[in-house]
Amino acid sequence: MKIILTGDRPTGKLHLGHYVGSLRERVKLQDSGEFDEIYIMIADAQALTDHAGTPATVRENILNVALDYLGVGLDPKKSTIFIQSQIPELFELTAYYMNLVTVSRLERNPTVKAEIAQKNFETSIPAGFLCYPISQAADITAFDATTVPVGEDQAPMLEQTREIVRKFNDTYGNGQEVLVEPDILLPSNNVCKRLPGLDGKAKMSKTLGNCIYLSDPADEVAKKVQTMYTDPTHIKVTDPGHIEGNVVFTYLDAFCTDTAAVNEMKEHYQRGGLGDVKVKKYLLNVLEEMLNPIRERRKQYESDPAEVMAMLKAGTAKAKEKAATVLSKVKQAMKIDYFA
Ligand code: ATP
Ligand code: MG
Repeated sequence: MKIILTGDRPTGKLHLGHYVGSLRERVKLQDSGEFDEIYIMIADAQALTDHAGTPATVRENILNVALDYLGVGLDPKKSTIFIQSQIPELFELTAYYMNLVTVSRLERNPTVKAEIAQKNFETSIPAGFLCYPISQAADITAFDATTVPVGEDQAPMLEQTREIVRKFNDTYGNGQEVLVEPDILLPSNNVCKRLPGLDGKAKMSKTLGNCIYLSDPADEVAKKVQTMYTDPTHIKVTDPGHIEGNVVFTYLDAFCTDTAAVNEMKEHYQRGGLGDVKVKKYLLNVLEEMLNPIRERRKQYESDPAEVMAMLKAGTAKAKEKAATVLSKVKQAMKIDYFA
């Protein structure tokens, strides 16, 4: 069996980083027909681990994320889209896995470490936040997922999940592979593994506010492209420019399929004589060609939010059924299936 599980936190609308890091890949995999089951999770419970005081944000972004999914071409007939918090089985699994992980192991997770610093959690980390990699292991294993298409920031989570799976199978498996060990699937294009923000910072992220959202209107995208970080030493058009760390060129690498044209622009820019305004205009065209159909499709669904919620409800019911079968297999292995 080949099974996909992946998802996003409903802490805002989805952006270009999500698109190249995971969404574009998901749609491709979905349409390849190579997977037996595909589960796409809106991770609201995980969002609450750093948004405990602002549940309204999480609630309103459930619909935003679902609309973004439908906009990029995820198809509820092929992919089961569901809401994490409505599946208690996931929290039961999390509780059991907690006994298989040490606090120091959690504290060593480089992504969690970076996020703790970013959120000023150093002096008081919410326990739920520290443990979110365990809940991710529950999410992945609850569906027997073999494949998890995500961006590079998720690599430590996958490693943690694999450790938990091995520990679980060693401890409770009695020679059997009760839980499935998943593989991470990163985008093949290097710049897509971690798309930088408009400001040139390491990662486009909702939290950092350096994003182009999939639902941004065209004039907003144009404005954002104008503010993009380029090469501060490239002052006059005739000056030779640098393309390393130049976000405009990074985005061309991520989004433009005409590599010959991009390479020629890179050479011209480095030689001198090619202005930022021109390159940005080219990039804007590339982005608009991609974003326009996504925006249009999203708009169609926006007019009927009740239908979108009904789709999520059906997906959640289906996902719950699957998680329940895995949970019962886990409880049996752990010898806590007293009344079975
Ligand atoms: P937050 O700031 O709330 O954590 P986020 O922008 O990091 O939001 P997530 O919901 O945490 O988004 O990430 C969802 C998925 O998108 C993950 O698979 C993650 O790897 C991927 N992703 C997010 N940002 C990027 C990026 N800049 N480049 C590549 N992939 C990304
Ligand atoms: Mg994140």
